Amino acid sequence: MRSDHLAELSFACASCGEPNLVLVEPEDGADQDLVVDCWVCCRPNRVQVRASGAGFLLQVSAGNT
Ligand SMILES: [Zn+2]
Repeated sequence: MRSDHLAELSFACASCGEPNLVLVEPEDGADQDLVVDCWVCCRPNRVQVRASGAGFLLQVSAGNT
């Protein structure tokens, strides 16, 4: 069973705008809600992943709580 292929998606940090990468496992289901710390400014980004056809849609917001 080969289900361990991760999708590497890029998004812009909500705080500083620098590009970041996030790994998403397609088998985890359609909707995912991740928190990814920006590698440049270390601020958390809330990344909501929605399956969209053959790909993914990302919605990024600042996860400052
Ligand atoms: Zn940043």
